[in-house]
Formats: sequence, structure tokens, C-alpha cells
Amino acid sequence: MSLPQIKLLPGREKSLLRRHPWVFSGAIAGISGSPRAGETCLVVDSRGTPLAVAAYSPASQITARIWSSDPDEPYDGKFSRRRIPAPAQLRETLGFADIPGGARLIYSESDGLPGVIADRYGNFVALQILSAGAEFFRQEIAECILELPGIAGVYERSDVSVRKHEKLPERCGLAAGEALPPELIIQEGTRRFAVDPIHGQKTGFYFDLRDARDLVTKLSAGRRVLNGFCYTGGFAVAALQGGATAVVNIDSSRPALAQARKNLELNNLDLSRAEWIAADGFEELNRQVKAGEKFDLVILDPPKLIDAKSHVISGCRAYSHLARRGFELLNPGGLLLNLSCSGLMTPELLQKITADAACQCGVEAQLVGEVRQSADHPVLLSVPETFYLKGLLSIRR
Ligand code: SAH
Repeated sequence: MSLPQIKLLPGREKSLLRRHPWVFSGAIAGISGSPRAGETCLVVDSRGTPLAVAAYSPASQITARIWSSDPDEPYDGKFSRRRIPAPAQLRETLGFADIPGGARLIYSESDGLPGVIADRYGNFVALQILSAGAEFFRQEIAECILELPGIAGVYERSDVSVRKHEKLPERCGLAAGEALPPELIIQEGTRRFAVDPIHGQKTGFYFDLRDARDLVTKLSAGRRVLNGFCYTGGFAVAALQGGATAVVNIDSSRPALAQARKNLELNNLDLSRAEWIAADGFEELNRQVKAGEKFDLVILDPPKLIDAKSHVISGCRAYSHLARRGFELLNPGGLLLNLSCSGLMTPELLQKITADAACQCGVEAQLVGEVRQSADHPVLLSVPETFYLKGLLSIRR
């Protein structure tokens, strides 16, 4: 069987040779063999030399996503069968295999499966399929995940806007195995969380903040904490376990706040120390500054504020606004943990934004720590975009 071919323009093979797994539409000289969306193609250079095996995404600017940079890997449609055991093994090596714990099981390009996200909550997995190629092998991917040790069911949460770029419809529902129980409880170190992969945001929970939560526990003793963009209260649990005197939680989502409250109860924490504010985070921070509120630890973890290159400037303005509010709300000696989950935000840029914000507030601050996505979201060194979550810890003098 010969595969449809995607031929590159002269010189446009360089990024593939450096193992970057995307072929942009502007790099392509021609496509032969009339591939369907998601079908596997052979990528060849301008002289016809085979370079890689890739999935065809006709609707996306990323026209091909590499399944294998070995053009001789059999193109039998069994990529997922060969790929999925390795990410699961890596999580085991990293100590994330325990049940009832949870972890990101598959992180897309980083795990050699472009367009596939899988998060494990105990015995159940929430799966997101984000690209045409992953969609093509969707059923096989779900079944391979189900075959992993300890997995009872796979629930699909492919209801994300990025699917629009690939002209894929949204889809949610059971993909393989048993239906999810009405409540899933996971254990993360000393913390317990009730997770709702069916109704929650994304796949239901942010494992990537695990290390940041540990840091917050370490820093919280005796502090009054502001938890901006709190979602289901991961940092609230971490702060109260660490001995925070109070935690003010802000989020625009009422269901998230209700779940956060439940998570405090689940951890037997003192609810009288928590305050819940359902509001726009930006407006509420302005209000808190005007009201003269002060905190000893401010955590600001907004949603992705830069989702395209064209939004870098407006997104940086928003991050800068948040950092300024953060510094203004700090008592002397107070800590600011400002995070960004935008892949297009670099650590250097976040540091510059944070430094400028301190300067504009007339505050002297020292950088005393950093956080990044936890290890179950590995950064593939050849794909810098896979390093998306960064956070800076500054102390106001
Ligand atoms: N810190 C969280 C994760 C944050 S996800 C955790 O520990 O799990 C981003 C959160 O921002 C979501 O809960 C979303 O509901 C909330 N959000 C998005 N836009 C918002 C806005 N304008 N104001 C307040 N909250 C917002």
C-alpha cells in the first residue's frame, strides 16, 4: 500500500529534521493521492526523499502532524497501539501511577501523540481529541487506553474550541469501557479532590499545578491568601492545609466555586476561613485594591490570555494588569505567585512583565521562586511550545 504524499518546498524540511512535528501549509509544494482528513501520509522533501509519516489536517494551518519521524515505521494505523504504553510507563517511573491518585497520562506532541490529551482520575480516563489525525484513530486510541492496567472506563471530552480549527464537531460521551461513577475522588499527596470530568472545565482538573500547590502549602502558614481564578479550589485546599489564616477565592464560575467549597469539606478544612466571590477576576481585583484590602500571599492563575500570536500584546497587557493588582494587594513581606498557562508567554517575558508591574506600583520585590507544569506534562525539548505553564514567586520588600 502506498501512502498519499505531502511534498515540501525546497529547504522547508529543516524543522522536521530537528524533530519538530508540525508542517505548516506554507511549507507545502503539493499533495498527491487525495488524502481524507486525518489520513496518514508520507511527508517527502522537495526531491522526494521520505522524511516522516504524518496525519493530514486539511482545515488547519498545521497541515500535517507527525506520527513518526521514521518514514519506515509501518503505516498500518497502529501508531496508538505502539505509542500509548510509553507515556503510561513514564508516569509510573515518575511516581504518578497510584490509584486513587491521578495524573496526565498522555500529553499530545510531548508523548508522540499529537492531538491526544488524556487525564487519569483513579480508574477512569478523560480523553480529548484535538486534531484530525487523532480523530481518525479515535476509537483505537480509546481502546488502547482502556487496555492499560487499572483503567475501567474512558470518557471523551472533545468539546473544546480548538477543534473548530480542524473543522471537527464537539463530542462528549463514553468512548470505551465502563461509565464514570457519579463522583470521582482523587488523592494528591495530603490533598483530596472531587473531580467531575463530565461537567468540569477541560477534562475536570488541573494536574499541571501539582507542584505549585505543594509550594503554596509550604508558604501559607499564618498568611491571609487571595486565590484569584480559583476554579475548584486546588490552591485553597493547599493554602489551608499549610496553615493559612484565611483564603479569599475569586472565580467567574459558580459551579467551580461550589465544587471548591466541597473540596474544602472533603479535606476537613475550616470553611469559616474561606470566602467565595463569584465575579470577573479583573474587576474584583480592582475592587479589592480600591477597598484597601491586603494579603500576605496572592495567587493569580488566569485562563490562557494569549491564544494566538496576534494576541500577544493584548495578552501581555492583561498579565501586566494582574501583576500590578497583585503587588498592590500585598502587605510588606507578602508573596505574589503569578502564573501564565499561555504557550506563547516565555519565562523571560513573564519576568519582565512582573518586574515592570512592581516598578509601576512603586514596589521593590525579589524573585524567590518559580513553578512550572508538573512532570506528568513533560516538555518535549524539540517542541518548545510544550512548555506552557510558568509561574513566578516574588516577595514584596
Ligand atoms: N487555579 C485553578 C485553575 C484556574 S483555570 C486551579 O487551581 O485549579 C482558570 C479559571 O479562571 C477557571 O476556573 C475559570 O472559570 C476562571 N475564569 C475565566 N475567566 C475569568 C474571569 N474573567 N474572571 C474570573 N474567573 C475567570
